[in-house]
Amino acid sequence: MTSQIEQQAKKLTIGGDKFKVLSPPKFDDLKQQQQYEKERLAAGFRAFAHYGFDEGLAGHITQRDCIEPETFWVNPLAVHFSQMKASDLVRVDHKGNIVEGNSPVNLAAFAIHSRIHHARPDVNAVAHAHTRYGRAFASLGELLQPISQDACMFYENHNVFDTFTGVVAELSEGDMIAECLGDMAAVILQNHGLLTVGKSVDAAVANFIIMESCCESQLLVQAAGEPKLIAHDIAVKTRQVNGSNMVTWGNFQPLYQVLLAKDDSFLN
Ligand SMILES: [Zn+2]
Repeated sequence: MTSQIEQQAKKLTIGGDKFKVLSPPKFDDLKQQQQYEKERLAAGFRAFAHYGFDEGLAGHITQRDCIEPETFWVNPLAVHFSQMKASDLVRVDHKGNIVEGNSPVNLAAFAIHSRIHHARPDVNAVAHAHTRYGRAFASLGELLQPISQDACMFYENHNVFDTFTGVVAELSEGDMIAECLGDMAAVILQNHGLLTVGKSVDAAVANFIIMESCCESQLLVQAAGEPKLIAHDIAVKTRQVNGSNMVTWGNFQPLYQVLLAKDDSFLN
């Protein structure tokens, strides 16, 4: 049986009916799936480092565990994203207990991500970082506008969380962020940074990279003049393609090839 992603890929390509289109692997063995997902998560951190999303102790990406879905994998505190390995990752439960791994975890990572994993069973991965353009754009407290094809993936698909009360340490604030996210793909955390989600780490990370880039584009255009906006119905139609599972997952694949060729130690 072909997956939804394979069906979408055939519609969006020529030759997709004849040649193999990349699609996420399927696993019969959950331990194998878990190892694969940890490797993708470690690669996600290498991707963040590749783009310079790696300031200080900030930033976290999480992956729901496929064996115990009430737990998730997260980065250990104070390991540079460029050095992350699958074996470094830590698994925590929704009560804040470390159930696997040997390192403390950033409290904000737990407070935000655990509540989003809890509120969104359809989401398997959450990505957050403090980045140059996301941080600047987030201070405006505005939504991204449909100024380009790429920005349309966030059209009516993200929100602004306008309550900054300091470093997130409370689960109740994680709940408020999850509520603000609703069933959408991203939240702009005002005076803080960006947060994206996805069905896979691949999608959450690729969404983050594109959102950061869309923030840069909107800042540039707002400094230059008044952008021409894409009409509502076209923006919706565009989002249905570039916000789809196939495209959001697929967006990470070329970058994964680069990461693998550069230094595959994240697999360890
Ligand atoms: Zn943060």
